[in-house]
Amino acid sequence: MSHVPEGLKEALEQITEAAENAGRDPRDVTLIAVGKTKPASMIREAYDLGIRDFGENKVQELTAKYEELPKDIRWHMIGHLQSNKVKYIVDKVALIHSVDSLKLAKVIEKEAAKKGVEHIDILLEVNVSGEESKFGMTPDELLEQIDEFLALERVRVRGLMTIAPFTEDPEESRPHFRRLRQLSVDIQQQNRHNNIDVARLSMGMSGDFRIAIEEGASYVRIGTMIFGERDYSHQ
Ligand SMILES: *Cc1c(COP(=O)(O)O)cnc(C)c1O
Repeated sequence: MSHVPEGLKEALEQITEAAENAGRDPRDVTLIAVGKTKPASMIREAYDLGIRDFGENKVQELTAKYEELPKDIRWHMIGHLQSNKVKYIVDKVALIHSVDSLKLAKVIEKEAAKKGVEHIDILLEVNVSGEESKFGMTPDELLEQIDEFLALERVRVRGLMTIAPFTEDPEESRPHFRRLRQLSVDIQQQNRHNNIDVARLSMGMSGDFRIAIEEGASYVRIGTMIFGERDYSHQ
């Protein structure tokens, strides 16, 4: 028996419950089902149960599944993205969550132009915890460069993303999520005149998405709870 129907039901129930407890409309939280390392057949199961937003962290895996699965899926690139691989996904993804430098954003701009992609939505990845192993800009780097990100024409900054450090106690993620939200508020205020909307927040994984929803998450990225533990032993 597949784990998917039960895991998905649990994730959706917990999203609804966390949102309602926080006085939020559950429809303002989008579940992104993260099927990395899992076969397309499992993603198809979640698709057949109504899920349309799927996340992958590797370009090659994303493009392979893109070819194999229905075209109304919204693909989310959530992993570290190398400049030389942008061209493979720029016309296939709904949202790139993991833009961590101005250089990368400029490559996305250029590749979008080449492919005739009018707009490509991105989030800026921020390392709010300061943990060294993490990708992402520091809050200061982000604030210094935000005007240049916002000046891009095809690339549209829609919000911020963060990955909290791994912890047994999800409460420890709360200050990081709170910091990300405050950053987006700061950016909105700093750019009041531009009427910009960088309010979307991608934060929270299987272990801590309830806390992330309480702190304002718009996207939660859930893998293990839906698809089960990942097996990396063959890679
Ligand atoms: C793998 C991954 C997830 C999902 O993590 P789970 O703990 O399995 O829910 C979320 N976000 C990113 C960036 C990931 O790489």
